[in-house]
Amino acid sequence: MERSKALFEKASRLIPGGVNSPVRAFRSVGGTPFFTQSASGSRLTTADGRELIDFVCTWGPAIHGHNPPEIKSAIAEALEKGTSFGTPNPYEVEIAERVVSMVPSLEQVRFCNSGTEATMSSIRLARGATGRSVIVKFAGCFHGHVDSLLVKAGSGALTLGNPDSAGIPAAFAAETRVLEYNDLAAAEELFKKEGESIAGVIVEPYPANCGLILPDPGFLEKLRELCTRYGSVLIFDEVMTGFRLAAGGVQEKVGITPDLTAMGKIIGGGLPVGAFGGKRELMQQLAPVGPVYQAGTLSGNPLAMAAGIAALRLLVETNPYDRLDKMGQAVRDALLEAAKEKGLALQVPQTGSMFALFFSDSPVRNYTDAIASQTSHFKTLFHEALNRGIYLPPSAYETCFISTAHEAGDIDIAIEGLTAALKAI
Ligand code: PMP
Repeated sequence: MERSKALFEKASRLIPGGVNSPVRAFRSVGGTPFFTQSASGSRLTTADGRELIDFVCTWGPAIHGHNPPEIKSAIAEALEKGTSFGTPNPYEVEIAERVVSMVPSLEQVRFCNSGTEATMSSIRLARGATGRSVIVKFAGCFHGHVDSLLVKAGSGALTLGNPDSAGIPAAFAAETRVLEYNDLAAAEELFKKEGESIAGVIVEPYPANCGLILPDPGFLEKLRELCTRYGSVLIFDEVMTGFRLAAGGVQEKVGITPDLTAMGKIIGGGLPVGAFGGKRELMQQLAPVGPVYQAGTLSGNPLAMAAGIAALRLLVETNPYDRLDKMGQAVRDALLEAAKEKGLALQVPQTGSMFALFFSDSPVRNYTDAIASQTSHFKTLFHEALNRGIYLPPSAYETCFISTAHEAGDIDIAIEGLTAALKAI
């Protein structure tokens, strides 16, 4: 760790906390973060020359593993033509066509540069289109660092224990209502009281920023029904789940059609891309055709679009979802078995290539259950796994990702290492 330690010391002098995104600093698990020198397939190589099997996958985007040749060559080809034009370019049309054909609810899509921009613009559009101001979100869901959505937010905001960021005027958050995920009665009650003022409901259909939480049967259907009944915009934040759990995301899996969908991560093939889309009628409210303003100097950037096209094309060509799910199940089953042998109460929610660990007696259905789980065990597990060459997300409240580059051998090594790590708790 000598080189990583030296880099972190210098970084901490130059960059707040030494990182450009808080959870990377290992604050919740302790210790010094390693720096990554390069990444290929399922592996990261650290600045200290260690090779790690990566279950973070750049926090979701790397569904094809790191630096896959198809994406690399697509970027190289685009690079020959220029890095940014500031005019429309053909890649934008190709990726828009692809995304609209993959995601069931989309008729039109607008590209931006991050998941945060996608959710921020989605709620602006919901407000602009309905002329209403209230936005409903769910505790533990994270939608990026949007002012009015950083209320009871998951991910780094939860990990650091300050769900409400300083610097957000009370008035900005006053129009946000927070419900417990999976609480149908509370959603119904809120709509009964305030339905006429609710511009939209934003939800991670499978919340993955508070560990991983799955919906009770009927929950997402009820949200759809309430939004339809009250004329509110249902926004699925599929930044994490989009293209990862099915080519068309959770909405394809569960057969529910949101009005708007926020996307990011995989859609950029590892480059900074976000997007949001939905019904034509709603999307036509955006500038330059409609009154809701949204823009971006680098939006639709040719390199990013080329990388995204390659990533999406590969998903359609290889349809890896069953194989990824089998790997996810194998890891889940092995973890549960090891915990049982050790006498540890462990829950491993898993869907497709996503899984999380909660040291808890009973299934985790919401934020309150999630924060009641035993996080000190996760801390131990994280370091025991890292010592064995397995990189898990450095927080008890994040989700682990598997990529198509994880070969059966990687999964076997990981199962062995994670089993030993659990036994060391
Ligand atoms: N929505 C969800 C569900 C996310 O998981 C994230 C990031 N982890 C975001 C939005 C924000 O995306 P970005 O970090 O690209 O701004």
